[in-house]
Amino acid sequence: MSRFAGEMSEHRQELVRLDTAIGDGDHGTNMDRGMRKAMEKLGASEPADPGSVLKTAAMALVSSVGGAAGPLYGTLLLQIGTAMGPEAEVDLPGFTAAWRKGLEGVQARGKAQPGDKTMVDALIPAIEAMEQASDLDEGLRAAVQGAQDGMNATTPLVARKGRASYLGERSKDHQDPGATSTYYLFKSAAEALAG
Ligand code: ADP
Ligand code: MG
Repeated sequence: MSRFAGEMSEHRQELVRLDTAIGDGDHGTNMDRGMRKAMEKLGASEPADPGSVLKTAAMALVSSVGGAAGPLYGTLLLQIGTAMGPEAEVDLPGFTAAWRKGLEGVQARGKAQPGDKTMVDALIPAIEAMEQASDLDEGLRAAVQGAQDGMNATTPLVARKGRASYLGERSKDHQDPGATSTYYLFKSAAEALAG
């Protein structure tokens, strides 16, 4: 979470630029504000286990970020955190299953299908890559690659969900901001694991 907060701060302008092209330009400020809030809450509450860390961050995102991304990232982290339970450690199968739950939550909430040009397009190849891996380290490295490929693959798509969908064909040739922040989420997780 700390690394992700750092990435959202560092890449705020990039995410604003992407969202200005096909949305309302607030994705970078939304995510940066939400993750600052999450770090504040985490500093104040000292959660007992990894699942509680994610649940605490999820609540902070939901309560501090308006727009689509707050509730969607809130749902993602809440579902992952809940699936991880009170365990102090997590292995690849447990972590992968938790991300699956997170993806299901995002899709239940936002109704986005693969190819709709959303964060789901980065989540799916990342999770599928983890499902093919044999340990957590390899899994997370493959997930970063999957998320990056999924993010890049959003560029030629016509958006069918979220604000970008209002543009119809004009949403083509732009990378999706939410898929981009999701790539940074996996990058943060992989870097945290690698220490
Ligand atoms: P808003 O669109 O309300 O301004 P943000 O700009 O913070 O919210 O987030 C936009 C991102 O949210 C999009 O780039 C897309 O990836 C994601 N998004 C929007 N709607 C959906 C949805 N229904 N399902 C999944 N992701 C979505
Ligand atoms: Mg926006």
